[in-house]
Order: sequence, then structure tokens, then C-alpha cells
Amino acid sequence: MRRPFISANWKMNKTIGETQAFLNEFLPLVRDVKDADIVIAPPFTSLPAAAALMKGSNVSLSSQDIFYEDKGAYTGEVAPGMLTDAGCTHVIIGHSERRQYFKETDEIINKKVKAALKHNLNVIFCIGESLEEREAGKMFDVLKREVEEGLKDIPSDHIVVAYEPIWAIGTGKTATTEQAQEAHKYIRERLAAIYGGAAANIRILYGGSVTPENIDALMACEDVDGALVGGASLKADSFSKLVKFKR
Ligand code: PEP
Repeated sequence: MRRPFISANWKMNKTIGETQAFLNEFLPLVRDVKDADIVIAPPFTSLPAAAALMKGSNVSLSSQDIFYEDKGAYTGEVAPGMLTDAGCTHVIIGHSERRQYFKETDEIINKKVKAALKHNLNVIFCIGESLEEREAGKMFDVLKREVEEGLKDIPSDHIVVAYEPIWAIGTGKTATTEQAQEAHKYIRERLAAIYGGAAANIRILYGGSVTPENIDALMACEDVDGALVGGASLKADSFSKLVKFKR
């Protein structure tokens, strides 16, 4: 049985003060949630303040990115050890916005995953096709390539996969439950080709315009084990409702 996993991705939103205000409201709302992993990924600048408030709570801290070198002349980058030092236990890697705007390739993403695991960080590994790729019938090829290249020579422990169709991110166009299940089932098959039976234990999250209104139906899909949530995670009220989804 795979334990549900719900993660917030705040992207480039919230100051330190706004992060603290969110957590002061959110943590008491979800204190009694025992049957799901809850993760929040604020911007880098808010990580230490978030870690201080989350200490001893049932909510874990993630960064939204990582660099693969331990230290050195890499202006603007943040090393794995700096993230654990700031209180992170998780890291999002390969988000489509990083792939699209910052030209992250499967090779770079693979290096980042390896660096994160070396520092005992749990990885939320993102994949997903664009609308053009879907319409051109290339969805399965894209997902296969992203899984095989991104996870090359990487053990499956401490990896959570997030399937995020790019056309559904921030657009209000959620994948139907059939589309989500079709992609998740395919991803699990690809994971099984790499990891064998262990693929049955890997959590696969859906991301793309998830809201308190559609989470229950998505979580009812056989291969959907959780959600990566952008817009609807920015308000404590709506993210706490998401975390308390019903199956
Ligand atoms: C995301 O940022 O990963 C995401 C899925 O965003 P949204 O929920 O806003 O579509």
C-alpha cells in the first residue's frame, strides 16, 4: 500500500513573513492528518524560517531545485549540503518550468537527482509532456525518455515521481481521471522495466491544476498516489482541504 503524498510547490511566491503567516495558519489545520506525507516547497529565502516553524510538525520541507556540485564558483546556485543545513528533507527536481525556462536537460536533471540522494534528500522527480507533444502522439515517448534518462543509474528508494502534463500546469485545465490514470499506469510500467517489483512501491503524484474540488476523483485512480500542487497550495485553507482529500 502506497502512502499518499501531497506536496505544495510555491514557485516564486511568498516572502519570509508571508511564509510564516501561512504556516501559523496551516500547521494547526493539518495537525491531525496522520495518513499522508505533507510537504511544502517555499522559495530558497524562506527555507530556514519555514524549517523553524515546521520543527516537530507532520509537515516536511522541500526546496524547489538544487545544484549538483557540493561547493565552488557557481554564482547563484545552491548546493545540496546548504539545503539540508537549511532544514530540507526533500527537493523538487526537473519541474517543467526549470526544463523550459532554464534549459535543464535530462542529463542535468540526472546529475541533480544523484547529488540529492548523496545528501539523503528525498526527490520529487517531475516529468510530463507538452500539449504539442501530446497532440503529435509523442506523449509516451517523452515520458519514457524522461524516466529512463532522468533516473539513469539511480536506485528507486527515496524517489517520488510527479507526472505533470505541462498543458495542465497553472491553466485550470486538469487532466481527466482517465488521462491521469493512463499516464500514471504507463509511468509505472516504465519504472517496472527499470526497478522490477519495486516499482509497485514508488509513489506517482499528479500535478496540474489540482484543487480541493478535483483531488478526490484523482486520488481514486489506481496509480495516482498523491499530488504536486501549485496555485491551490498558496492559501492555507485550500491546501489544508487538499491534504484532507477523501478516497
Ligand atoms: C506545479 O507547479 O507543479 C503545478 C502543478 O501548478 P498548478 O497546481 O498551479 O497547476
